[in-house]
This record gives sequence, C-alpha cells and structure tokens, in this order.
Amino acid sequence: MKHSLKRFSGIMIGLSLLFAAAFTYGNKAEASESSDSVYYGLHPDVVEKAELVKQIAANEGILIRYTDGYRSFDSQDAIFEQGRTSPGPVVTNARSGQSYHNFGLAIDFVLTDAYGNAQWSLERDANGNGVPDWEDVGNIAKSVGFTWGGDWEAFVDMPHLQLDYGMSLADLQYWHSQGYYQFAD
Ligand SMILES: [Zn+2]
Repeated sequence: MKHSLKRFSGIMIGLSLLFAAAFTYGNKAEASESSDSVYYGLHPDVVEKAELVKQIAANEGILIRYTDGYRSFDSQDAIFEQGRTSPGPVVTNARSGQSYHNFGLAIDFVLTDAYGNAQWSLERDANGNGVPDWEDVGNIAKSVGFTWGGDWEAFVDMPHLQLDYGMSLADLQYWHSQGYYQFAD
C-alpha cells in the first residue's frame, strides 16, 4: 500500500510537470519564429537558459555559439545513418525519438574564438583558469539546470545540453505518440 501510494504520487508529480511543459510549448512561436534559427522548435525554457549560459560564459572569458537544436524524427534518422549506411563519421547512437533533441529539449554548443570560429580542442582554456573551457561551460550549464552530456559515460557528448523535466525518453515518446510535442513539424 505504502509502495503504491509512493508510485502514485510520483506519477502525479510527473504529470503536473508534463502539463506545465506542454503548456509552455504553446508559446514556442515566440521563442523563435524562423526555421533558420538554431532556437527553432526548442522549448522556450531551453532558449532562455541557453542564452544565460552563453552570457555567463562570456563574462568568464569563454565564447560559445549554438550549433544544433531541435531535430525532427526524420532528420534524427538521417544523422543516425551517417557512418553506417551513408558516408561520414558516426555522430550519434540515437534513432528518432531516442534523443532529447527530437522533443525540443536539447541544444549543442561549440567553443569559438573571437571571430566565431569553432574551437574543438578539448584542452582549450581561453580564460586561463586551469579548467578546460568545455568543463567550465558544462558546469555553468548545470548551474542553470541543464544536464550536460560531458558527464555521460556510455557516449560522452561534450557539446550537449538538455532539460528533461524529470521525464525519461520513454515518457516523451509516449506523450509524443499522443500528439504532444509536435510543435515544429
Ligand atoms: Zn546534442
């Protein structure tokens, strides 16, 4: 009895978070109206926090830009095939519906120089604080509520930031199948 009550309240908390998230999604068009923008199709909270991370990083002497945000199921399948049935290196282990990018909840960054050129070196320490800039940005992102892919063990994904609202991919896939989160297709 105690156990099932606990489970029930867990589900209720999950549902209220979901509806909060779904409600906010309705304002998506305000977050980014242009499909050319890296912010297109992202949850407005992701956009707001991404801007904050960029600003805090700049204040600490680290420049970043965002390279990749929302990905439709089709485009996720296309990049999954890269390095498998199509040319190029493998860049993801996720098929459609297996990435938070597919639900507008993830964004990728890259370090840049003053001219906006991508800097991929893992040792880069532009602000000279003795901590690699990737890690600095990961820590800033976590301080504003993102999960950072640099902490993952199975597939370390340094550029990746995501918000999950406590929802697993299985939760998101279920709600997507019920017609939620199809805001950018
Ligand atoms: Zn990513």
